[in-house]
Amino acid sequence: MRLLLVEDDTMIGESISEALTSEHYALDWVKDGLGAELALANGVYDLLLLDLGLPKKQGLQVLKDYRKQGGIQPVLILTARDGLADKVAGLDAGADDYLVKPFELDELFARLRALLRRHSGRIQPIITVGALSCNPATFEVTIDEQLINLSAREFALLLALLDPPGRVMSLSALEEKLYSWQNEVASNSVEVHIHRLRKKLGAEFIVNVRGVGYRWQHH
Ligand code: CA
Repeated sequence: MRLLLVEDDTMIGESISEALTSEHYALDWVKDGLGAELALANGVYDLLLLDLGLPKKQGLQVLKDYRKQGGIQPVLILTARDGLADKVAGLDAGADDYLVKPFELDELFARLRALLRRHSGRIQPIITVGALSCNPATFEVTIDEQLINLSAREFALLLALLDPPGRVMSLSALEEKLYSWQNEVASNSVEVHIHRLRKKLGAEFIVNVRGVGYRWQHH
């Protein structure tokens, strides 16, 4: 999952950025409203974390423009303690949820999971496909109830293929889900992770769709 954080407060931004990276998300962080607009234009994000009080362009305007231009990804706004009017305006401008600063990181993680789940049309918190189950909250993956140990990238790759399962993902789309601007990406790294994932889960599940990409195939 690739997220965009828009936050001008360095301390808050650093703590969110570190925490989300350790939770297997690929995160890009911009510090003003114009930066947000530029980043959003490439359309790779699964979710937007948006502070409202921002330099150059206010968060509320970023949100309004994003929705007006057809942006469909979930938006979680970060508001100040006394920001009742901000919360209402944010939700009415197309935000999906809000968090009041300061917040606990565990609450942020849980809200992100809920928003992403809802957005992918999934009701169940644990993704189950055939004998495989994948829990985005605990990072546990099992096949026939046997725990499979995955690295952070392997887990992120599996999630990209499973949520929702069955869609074809091109190599570049997978790369965009797995890596942020900060990561240096070797040209074959997604393929390397696919190879490892097949070894751990069984080769039959990840199908190569010739000339297009990869797809999870349920057996
Ligand atoms: Ca701010």
